[in-house]
Amino acid sequence: MNRKSSLVIVYHRQPYEEEVVGDRVVYRENKSPNGIVPTLKSFFGRVPEGKGAWVAWKQVSPKRKESFERVIDIEDSYGRYSVSRLPLTADQVRMFYHVTSKEALWPILHSFPWLFRYDTTDWNTFREVNWLFAEAAAAQAEDDALVWVHDYNLWLVPGYLRRIKPSLKIAFFHHTPFPGPDVFNILPWREEIVDSLLACDLVGFHIPRYAKNFADVARALRDVEVEATTRVEDGMSPSGLALSEPEVPVAVRHKGHKVGIDAFPVGTNPNFVAKVLDTEANQTLQSEIEEELRDRRLIVAVGRTDYTKGIRETLQGFERLLERRPELHTKVKLMVVSVQAATGMRIYRDTQREVETLVGRINGRFSTLGWTPILLFSNAIPFDKLIAYYRRADVCVITPLRDGLNLVAKEYVAAKRGQEGALVLSEFTGCAVEFPQAILTNPYSDRAMDAALDQALDMAPDEARARMAAMYETVRRYDVARWADHTFERFDQIGTPDEPPALKAV
Ligand code: UDP
Repeated sequence: MNRKSSLVIVYHRQPYEEEVVGDRVVYRENKSPNGIVPTLKSFFGRVPEGKGAWVAWKQVSPKRKESFERVIDIEDSYGRYSVSRLPLTADQVRMFYHVTSKEALWPILHSFPWLFRYDTTDWNTFREVNWLFAEAAAAQAEDDALVWVHDYNLWLVPGYLRRIKPSLKIAFFHHTPFPGPDVFNILPWREEIVDSLLACDLVGFHIPRYAKNFADVARALRDVEVEATTRVEDGMSPSGLALSEPEVPVAVRHKGHKVGIDAFPVGTNPNFVAKVLDTEANQTLQSEIEEELRDRRLIVAVGRTDYTKGIRETLQGFERLLERRPELHTKVKLMVVSVQAATGMRIYRDTQREVETLVGRINGRFSTLGWTPILLFSNAIPFDKLIAYYRRADVCVITPLRDGLNLVAKEYVAAKRGQEGALVLSEFTGCAVEFPQAILTNPYSDRAMDAALDQALDMAPDEARARMAAMYETVRRYDVARWADHTFERFDQIGTPDEPPALKAV
């Protein structure tokens, strides 16, 4: 079978959960429709049945490679689509993903240049794997298909695709921040990366600042002209914030080729959150949480264990809070979900150890027989359970030093449904530009972090409700369906002289 597709999504993860039943592998639909994979799959609903394809990698031993079925057909609630699995060896995965992507590219994208490691990287394997992705995507694509490539670990795919099948429409979406030239240009492969991105018809980002940074990088490195710029609507980027940007490029031109640029943050699914919260099972869980906490105040902090996520800053801020305000002892609990990475990478092991050490120290300093100030979860909590905690949480603390968007912030707002609560949010998370009503803070400053926590805990109920209601309105209006509509509109304009649509306005 090799049916060609009109939409090919290239994303490193497979779009289902694999389960071995007896001697058979069963492909199960992801349990929760929440998350980026289901969001991307929903795009298959916008092309004719059977015209969607997905390309991902799968680790396969050299022995199994011969008999490995590369392309399979999947039918689930998103329709019928094909999945092309790129068989990679453990070594390829390590060099491409864990070393080059995570040790060289990730620190640069998140403006941690001192963690950039050049000597261990293996750019040739990175190129090779990206080439294999491009070949696999081209094999699935009709001549004029749209191939939508996701994230920095596939940066070279667009350039290769253009060489393999020039007639394709190529779009790229960054799920991470994109730094300005001063930081990006540390990458020794900067021209190669930018040339590949300039082979796209559309390059997408969460927020205007990242789009602007990309245009600045492209202009610094290549003969690139900004063809059109638009003013950013106030609601998207109120002035005065760390990530505010008054103007955003909507297209650049390089060697006669027009590259559309888009800035639109991914949304969450507040209807789904509301539906789950209203189920009987979830209501029971919420009652149990209430019973357990009684009149204690609950602060939640949720994220992957990553040095960019500012979990150390959250924990240290909480420790200072307990030092500063003894009256809160026994009255407040911090629930930390810091999901440890499965990779075994040193940097993540160190971060995990640091989190555990800090939690141990703080609990050791302040615990009493009936009160442990911090509850730490190192494994992921299922989404439906997580939102029951969000619902009860008086405060949600999100303090990354840098974060592309941060969906947890949006999910907390969705779970509160306009009811009293407080979102302490780092100015360096992408969604900060959407939530000026959050308690914005600077995780590089102890004083700012202390003031933010105090403000969150002391806020008058009316004000807390008004702020959450305003943020809930944003989350509802700019939900994930709106992001998909907007993105599809931009796809439709590829190759047409249409003006780009107005930017998101709140
Ligand atoms: N998440 C989850 N269980 C956990 C921790 C996180 O389901 O224990 C989900 C969370 O609800 C969110 C996603 O994982 O949808 C994390 O996305 P985010 O944008 O906040 O961070 P990323 O990991 O993509 O940097």
